[in-house]
Amino acid sequence: SLKILDTCVNCDVCEPVCPNQAISLGEDFYIIDPDLCTECVGHHDEPQCVVVCPVECIISDPAHVETGDALKAKYHRLTSAA
Ligand code: SF4
Ligand code: SF4
Repeated sequence: SLKILDTCVNCDVCEPVCPNQAISLGEDFYIIDPDLCTECVGHHDEPQCVVVCPVECIISDPAHVETGDALKAKYHRLTSAA
């Protein structure tokens, strides 16, 4: 999963581009649900939130490091549950 740092300026451009609806407004700034973020695996070549974020405040979450296979499995889990 990726993670949004507190340097987020709440511009809201990342939320609509997430294919997994993993991004929402938290208490103080936007947050990513690690159970829903596939790092865009299965949908796009690169993480769309990182592409659009104007302040580069989205990083790889050190608390949720996942392999490509794990991200792919999450993608399949999410799309088959729909
Ligand atoms: Fe959503 Fe992709 Fe960003 Fe994860 S990396 S929060 S799936 S846009
Ligand atoms: Fe925050 Fe970046 Fe998302 Fe804007 S695009 S809300 S600055 S994480």
